[in-house]
Amino acid sequence: MQSENKACAKCQSQFTIESDDFSFYQKIGVPAPTLCPTCRLKRRMFVRNFRTLYKRPSSKSGKAIISMYHEEQPFPVLSMEEWYADDWDALEYGKDFDFSRPFFEQYKELDSMVPRCGLIVNNSVDCGYCNLCNRSSNCYFVFGCIDNEYCDYGHSVWNCRESMDCLFLFRSEYCYECINVLESNNLLYCQECESCAESIGLFDCRGCVNCIGCVGLRNKSYCIFNQQVTREEYQQFLKEHPLSDPANIEYILSEQKKLRQIVPTPHLFGSHNIDVSGNYIYNAKNVHSGFNIKSGENSKFGFIVRKMVESYDCNFCLDIENCYETLFSQPNGIRFSHLVLDSSDITYSQFCLNSNHLFGCAGLRKKDYCILNKQYTKEEYEELVPKIIEHMKSTGEWGEFFPITNAPYAYNESTVGEYFPLSREEALEQGYAWKDDIPAMLGQENARIEDMSGYDFAALKDKIFACTSCSRNYRFIEHEIGFYRRFNLPLPIKCFFCRHQARMDTRIPPDLYHRTCMCREDTHSHKGACVNEFETSYAPERAEIVYCEKCYQAEIV
Ligand SMILES: [Zn+2]
Ligand SMILES: [Zn+2]
Ligand SMILES: [Zn+2]
Repeated sequence: MQSENKACAKCQSQFTIESDDFSFYQKIGVPAPTLCPTCRLKRRMFVRNFRTLYKRPSSKSGKAIISMYHEEQPFPVLSMEEWYADDWDALEYGKDFDFSRPFFEQYKELDSMVPRCGLIVNNSVDCGYCNLCNRSSNCYFVFGCIDNEYCDYGHSVWNCRESMDCLFLFRSEYCYECINVLESNNLLYCQECESCAESIGLFDCRGCVNCIGCVGLRNKSYCIFNQQVTREEYQQFLKEHPLSDPANIEYILSEQKKLRQIVPTPHLFGSHNIDVSGNYIYNAKNVHSGFNIKSGENSKFGFIVRKMVESYDCNFCLDIENCYETLFSQPNGIRFSHLVLDSSDITYSQFCLNSNHLFGCAGLRKKDYCILNKQYTKEEYEELVPKIIEHMKSTGEWGEFFPITNAPYAYNESTVGEYFPLSREEALEQGYAWKDDIPAMLGQENARIEDMSGYDFAALKDKIFACTSCSRNYRFIEHEIGFYRRFNLPLPIKCFFCRHQARMDTRIPPDLYHRTCMCREDTHSHKGACVNEFETSYAPERAEIVYCEKCYQAEIV
């Protein structure tokens, strides 16, 4: 099929469906989308909430629980132990499909009755205040916490150990305040780095050890602000600039920032790729319009996926294949679904575990061949599902993700508000719901952070502080104090939410711009300015000097 230009049914912007895309949609059995990729991503993000948490009673036992759902939501919310207990069965809520009514309406009715788990902490131990947590242990306040041990405070931290206050950290240990860092250890305040160790304040470095405040270096050691120094000079610098003084951290990062204005930036961050577009892509082949993909093949429109194969439109996913319009799920054949783990062939379902062949289900565990939580035989299921799909085609629902009116969140409660921030006025103007009373603990402080010194947990454990930025109360746990002591770091003066927001603010938005290489030098095998064109997330008005792959490789050695 020929490529086709379409106007997005939500934002009216033009988007193109390429001929390859049609083959994918045909294979997966869905029509071409009616919304542009960004509007599809935003719509999916509406069903997800990582960190807006409420204290409320469990709908079963009445005991106080932490939950990502406000008490006003219609569905019952249980503690994790209650939800995973064997004394209830989500099949009790099963309903017949009604061919006289739209599917989404019927799903919403089911969804408003089936109990949900306040926080999703699956196959994990001792992970307090973590949400969307899988196969982890001894973690605290990590949102999107996969295969971790001893990690505190972070978002999208996967396969890591002993790391704190990180965003998009992968296969790393002993990292602090790092963003988009992978395969590294003992890194402090680093961003867009791969395979580095024992360093502070690096940006876009690979294979570097014992470096400080450097930008765009490869396989170097003992460099400070991109200058080679001796081992002795390096140690002298560390001695003169202890990190326990925040002014020294500020100095290192401000010098690094100055370097970023003169050192070229790659048009995308990534490595070991063949034919890819997007940003932060690694170990991938034929992956396009992808953002934060750790490995993948033949996929498109992925956003924060560990391994993405033959899939489109997936975000916050682990290792997936043949999936479409899906969040926080794995591994195979999952379409239009959210939070479906260790399952395959699942369509329009949420919160289902260890199941196969489900359509329109909620809260099922170890079930096969169910529709709207009702059990069918294999034969009945295979006969009924195509009829429901035909019905959904007639109502215009087939091929669309759950509408935002089905989502239990307002704009500022959900992940969409975290990744695509809008002011209250903007959100209301665009027709989104807004929540005014998001709770925050305030006014309980009994100590001032500036009066504290040293790393004595006994002196800190009963203290409550007020964030110097938003006044929200925060406290310390023993593990984090040990971490600050290990690296001689200052105690944070801001709460987790402000620290997280500051890291989120450094991200480059997941947009793509068609641009020309900014290399003007008479080198790199071109005479005069380079004419290579590419897709990049760096908007044309940004200050970074963005180079094509060839010029960047020639420049960065
Ligand atoms: Zn749109
Ligand atoms: Zn704060
Ligand atoms: Zn170039």
